Amino acid sequence: MRNLILVLGDQLDPENPALAGIDRKRDGIVMIEAAGESTHVWSHQARIALFLSAMRHYAESLRQRDLPLQYLALEDNKESSLVALLREVIAQNRPQKLIVCEPGEYRLQQAIEQLCREAAIRLEIRDDIHFLCSHEAFAAWAKGRRELRMEFFYREMRRRHDVMLEDGQPAGGRWNFDSDNRAGFGKKGPGPLPQPPQFTADAVTREVIALVRSRFAQHPGSLDDFNWPVTRTDALRALEDFIKHRLPRFGEHQDAMWTSMPFGWHSLLSAALNLKLLNPREVIAAAVEAWREGLAPLAATEGFVRQILGWREFIRGVYWLDMPGLLEANHFGHDRALPTWYWTGNTAMTCMREAIGQTLKHGYAHHIQRLMVTGNFALLAGIRPQAVHEWYLAVYVDAVEWVELPNTAGMALFANGGRFTSKPYIASGAYINRMSNYCGNCRYDVKLKTGLKACPFNTLYWNFLDRHEQQLARNPRTVLMARNVSRLSAAERDAIRASARNILETIG
Ligand SMILES: Cc1cc2nc3c(=O)[nH]c(=O)nc-3n(C[C@H](O)[C@H](O)[C@H](O)COP(=O)(O)OP(=O)(O)OC[C@H]3O[C@@H](n4cnc5c(N)ncnc54)[C@H](O)[C@@H]3O)c2cc1C
Ligand code: SF4
Repeated sequence: MRNLILVLGDQLDPENPALAGIDRKRDGIVMIEAAGESTHVWSHQARIALFLSAMRHYAESLRQRDLPLQYLALEDNKESSLVALLREVIAQNRPQKLIVCEPGEYRLQQAIEQLCREAAIRLEIRDDIHFLCSHEAFAAWAKGRRELRMEFFYREMRRRHDVMLEDGQPAGGRWNFDSDNRAGFGKKGPGPLPQPPQFTADAVTREVIALVRSRFAQHPGSLDDFNWPVTRTDALRALEDFIKHRLPRFGEHQDAMWTSMPFGWHSLLSAALNLKLLNPREVIAAAVEAWREGLAPLAATEGFVRQILGWREFIRGVYWLDMPGLLEANHFGHDRALPTWYWTGNTAMTCMREAIGQTLKHGYAHHIQRLMVTGNFALLAGIRPQAVHEWYLAVYVDAVEWVELPNTAGMALFANGGRFTSKPYIASGAYINRMSNYCGNCRYDVKLKTGLKACPFNTLYWNFLDRHEQQLARNPRTVLMARNVSRLSAAERDAIRASARNILETIG
């Protein structure tokens, strides 16, 4: 064999660069279902099923293109480690070279490099052209900046890719329409909700679901509501449905939360994007076209484009710039274990029960639920960042490390000391109360700071400020937070500390 081409489970792009120039007679493709990739964190069953089903469908599309594929199915593999299985394939085929599009995970890239050194074969890692910003371009942008700010990166990306510009200026005269977006629902709630499209499970998906149910029965999450795109055709339908039915109101209530409203007007496209079933360019183009045709307002479209062209690309840039250090980052020195109910949703806090409950049901929660509910609680409670990271990587269908880790360690937990956020994203219960109806249905009282009935977010918020006062005071960006807590009397501090101790002792 001349070249062995490895296609990883999140590289299901029909234009995967590793396939370019393939010679059907002299080269071979390998795809590997490795159980270890589902167990190195305790993966949600829907996450495992999504990967396996999408991989199997993609494999079929390669066969239909008459490409030489060796597919190692989970049921047949004796080894569980991807690298061990790849080692066997290399030993069988003795290729001159292994070609792979750059993996999305630092750990895997290192392991593949190591394997090729041991097997004494050449390794060609091809650039992942799925993304709009290369590593080199991001590193050049970041060079010399002490703090990385997404907003400036995003403006440059808009200019560089000529997105929503008019005579070189941002459409509508502003780069950012956040102030028009992000309202709560008010007392009446969200009103009639758009239903996400339905993806009926075909024979492949049904087989995978049965496999996951038997092989990963102890894993968290449910498969009863599995409804994610697993092919490019499905993914394109998901995109079309979003553009038509949810983009027009996307930004308006982007941060709002409501009981039994898992999806709202969100796009639900992250998993399809991260598996590379969709290309970000076509997603951006579809949104911009809808705006140009007058089918979606400017604020909603800009808000959405910023997520894809701004946040998604920025987060990837940060990951590769800051690995492997990001995995160990722990700015506040937090060391508490993750409460076991993060895996069950079994808690009296309505906001946490709702966010975790829908996560277990669908493998999905929207950004503010991840950031300001489960992430906020983890930071306030002082949970070890690595334990939080493993939870986020496990429970979302869109979870892949390059995007999950910077969001968790960097954005939600401030574990990297604010490399790209101006201050920790912490909030008391008042924020959750403003953005949702959760507090009205909660055992705790969102107005109370201390005592048994007090909202734990309130108690832990003040306890966090008290605990880290010195550290917050040293940083000009967090000095205001330190000042707030410095106004508390000694008695108030004692009461907060006692209440916080009580909560932390009982959170499991
Ligand atoms: C703690 C934490 C962990 C996260 N883990 C992941 C993860 O593992 N995988 C993942 O794709 N996203 C992750 N995010 C980012 C974001 O929450 C999800 O992308 C989003 O909720 C997915 O839902 P959606 O497709 O409906 O997004 P929408 O709200 O419709 O947004 C549109 C798209 O923009 C992109 N996007 C939006 N925000 C971000 C962001 N902060 N970083 C990168 N891309 C973004 C996504 O591709 C998303 O599909 C995480 C956020 C937090 C706070
Ligand atoms: S009162 Fe506190 S714990 Fe209860 S839902 Fe509101 S924020 Fe969450």
